[in-house]
Amino acid sequence: MSTEKSLILVKPDGVQCGHIGHVISRIENRRYEIKALKMVNATEEQLRQHYSQLVDKPYYADIEKFMTSGPIVAIIAEGNEIIDTFRKMAGPTNPSEAMAGTIRGDFARAWGPGPIKNVVHSSDSVESAEKEIKIWFPERINTEN
Ligand code: ADP
Repeated sequence: MSTEKSLILVKPDGVQCGHIGHVISRIENRRYEIKALKMVNATEEQLRQHYSQLVDKPYYADIEKFMTSGPIVAIIAEGNEIIDTFRKMAGPTNPSEAMAGTIRGDFARAWGPGPIKNVVHSSDSVESAEKEIKIWFPERINTEN
């Protein structure tokens, strides 16, 4: 058991389709603490850092186009074991495989060729969360929490 922070993004499809509140409610319903929250327009440089493991993939251009198609909401949420738990709450990457009750299962679906639009991102490890928080909340780098 450990208190962790996760970096959660409501992606452009989630913002455009009115799911900011739904994602925030899912966080609050589980009584995780929202430590920071802001709306931003992602830059190509932020996305290259955030998706550094995917920049060489053939579909990276699709990801970049999608993630710059509108504003996103960046959230730092904290709680015991939030990283693994929130990934389960989000559901699998492919919305077609996401069960009802998960965020992607309730608010996303397959749209055909192109980027996978799946409403949310959440960190997959403590190390990723630390890296991602610096990318989206650079102003917090020297703060305690
Ligand atoms: P997750 O977001 O579930 O952690 P990944 O880290 O594997 O998944 O991928 C990051 C994001 O890139 C996905 O959420 C999705 O939006 C997009 N993506 C992943 N794989 C593909 C693909 N094969 N084609 C198009 N977009 C993809």
